[in-house]
Order: sequence, then structure tokens, then C-alpha cells
Amino acid sequence: MKKNNTYDNSLLDYQTAVVHDSHDDRHHGAVAFPIYQNSLFTFPTHDAFDMASSKFLDNHVYTRGNNPSVFELEKRLALLEDGEKARCFASGMAAISAAILSTIQSGDHVICVDEAYGVTKRFLNDYLSNYGIETTFVDGASIENLVSAVRPNTKLIYLESPTSMVFKLQDLKSCAQLAKKIGAITIIDNTWASPCFQNPLQFDIDLVIHSISKYIGGHSDLVGGVVIGSAELIDKLSKNEFLLLGGIMTPHTANQVMRSLRTLPLRMEKLQANGLYVAKYLEQIPFITKVNHPGLPSHEQYSLVHSQMKGLGSLFSFETTLPYHIVRNWGDKLTYFRIGVSWGGYESLIIVTKQTTDQKKDSISLVRIYIGLENPQILVNDMLNAFKEIGIYVP
Ligand SMILES: *Cc1c(COP(=O)(O)O)cnc(C)c1O
Repeated sequence: MKKNNTYDNSLLDYQTAVVHDSHDDRHHGAVAFPIYQNSLFTFPTHDAFDMASSKFLDNHVYTRGNNPSVFELEKRLALLEDGEKARCFASGMAAISAAILSTIQSGDHVICVDEAYGVTKRFLNDYLSNYGIETTFVDGASIENLVSAVRPNTKLIYLESPTSMVFKLQDLKSCAQLAKKIGAITIIDNTWASPCFQNPLQFDIDLVIHSISKYIGGHSDLVGGVVIGSAELIDKLSKNEFLLLGGIMTPHTANQVMRSLRTLPLRMEKLQANGLYVAKYLEQIPFITKVNHPGLPSHEQYSLVHSQMKGLGSLFSFETTLPYHIVRNWGDKLTYFRIGVSWGGYESLIIVTKQTTDQKKDSISLVRIYIGLENPQILVNDMLNAFKEIGIYVP
């Protein structure tokens, strides 16, 4: 990947990259980058105004184009993903929809992994189908499934590795090779791994997306998204979907995210350790039939995990033979886990569902767990106490 970032990323150390700022003499030595809380920027002469406006996206003219606070964040996120450019959006879905739209047109065909984020699947299947775009959903665990879904008009391969809910991987290198061969673009939702633990551009994937609302934001207090890639692809997206649909991130949110970035590598190390601690414990419980966590040696793709990831997120799931209503009741008894959507913050979360990886066994419950920054032994004790409270003995 050709690098054209304002930072030197030849010796990228994540902790230094997020803590150290390049000098910027516009803010009088202020140690933290200021919030440029402006809708527009003014010029001393019409000549200067014309010059800036002729490159609307490269200069600070209007905030639905280029705001200095948002631009600073975009440079840092591009650096962390080893990309040339990035664009921030109002939410993960604003980033995902803009990125998808920037790569396809009416009459095109999309291949998408079947366990991708639910709202992304709805956008492809229920919404874009109205505009003459057809999507085939395939199990991405095997490259053969993608190969057999290819049509002459396949223009986009959409990946999410690991997937939401059951955490299956795709072989990024093989997917990128297939796409190059057929002249399609690859997009990956990289939210689960964060930029610290997986950098898909290094495997020739074209565009990387993060829901900033999760790990990057990290404090359950903001919503945002980002698309990262080559200057060519990001410039195309900036001129069209970014500017025309206008789903931009506000300068205030960008400032909050820059603060969050300072501790991203530290948080990820701790979250990874906490998640594995709890997953390993749950795996020993007899009525828990399966723990879906890519960091466990029992994961079907354990060797692939190590060939393309540098670390692991702390969102996973487990399957149990206990009936759904019992498991729901157990979830209600937990003290340290809250019941709710989203994840990536400091606090542990849980959702009990009926979904399972084994379509035939509808009596099995699937529990999605997000492990936060609490002491993991306290979280394990909380789970054991809740089982005791509903009268279930854990040997
Ligand atoms: C939450 C999430 C999204 C959507 O992001 P929003 O910021 O909520 O729009 C996309 N992909 C994954 C994997 C997510 O977890």
C-alpha cells in the first residue's frame, strides 16, 4: 500500500501514534487540538475565496466539506489503518451506506457475507434492491462460496470479519485476490478488531469501515463512523456520497473521538485480556455447548485468526442447551452486565436471543456478551451467582 499520510507511519507504534501530535501553530501551543466549532470559514479577498472554493474538499470553506477538527481526526484514523485518506461520518451506517454507494451503480451485483451486521444486510437487500442492485449473501468462511456466487456484473464484495453474533472470519487475502481478478471492489467492516488488531488494507482490501460508536469512541457517549482507503477511492467518495448525502461528523464529536483515541491501544489490550478470561471460563461449563470467540483454540478458524489479526475484540457469544426463557431469566439476574444494544464502551453488556449457529436446534439460546473494563473475575462471579439464584448448579 502506497503511503501518503502527513504522519510518518514507517515506524508505527500505536501508543505513540495516538498520543503524539504534529505541531500546529494555529492553536497557540494548546496541547489538545481545539474544536473548530464553525459552519463556515471566511477569506480576506474574493481571490482567496475563489482559490479555496476551487478545491472545496481540500480547504476549510464549509463544515460539510472540510472542518479542521474533523480533518485532524481523519488523518489520525488513516494513519492507524495504514491508509492514505479517511472520511468521518455521523454514524457507522452513514459510513457503510456511503461506502457501498460509492462502489456500485444500478445493474450491479454485490456479494455480502451472510452474518454481516443486520442493518447493513437490510440496506443491501431491502433498500438497494429498489435501485436495481442485487445482493447474494454467502457463508464467507470458505472462499469457494464467494467464487461460486460471482456473476459477470459483480462489482462489490462486502466483508465483515469476524462477523456479528457468531464471529466467523473470512480469509482477507483470498477475498482481495478474487476481487482483483473479477474487477470488483472489496469493503470490510473492521469494527470488531479495531484499528489496533486488524489492518485489512495491508491484505489488499480496498476500503475499511469502523463504527466509531464502538471501540474507537469507547465510552458509550457518541455515535460516528469512518471509511479509510486509498486517496483515489476516498476522493471519489468525498466528492459524491460524502458531499451530496451530507452525513458528516460534527466538530464536537471529532474532538471527543480524538480524546478517545489517546487510550484506544490501552483499552484494547485490557478488553482483549478480559474477554478471553471470561470466554475461557464459560467454555468449561457443561451446559454451555459452544463459545463463539475467535481467540479460543476451539474456534474453527483459529489458525486464520493468527495469520491476519494482531489481537482480539471482547464481543463474543455462547450457545447453551438451557431453554430460552431460563437463560433470559438468568440474564435479568446479572448485576454487572446491563441489557442493551451496541458495545465497545467501558461497561459489560448482554443480550439473550434465540438465534443459533445450528439452524436445526431451535431450542438452543444464543447469548451475546460484551466484556468491558471491569475486573473479569467479578464478572465471572456475577454469572455464577445468577445461575445459583435461578436454581442452576454449575459444577
Ligand atoms: C454498530 C455496528 C455498526 C453500525 O454502526 P452505527 O454507528 O450504530 O451506525 C456497523 N457494524 C458493526 C459491526 C456494528 O457493530
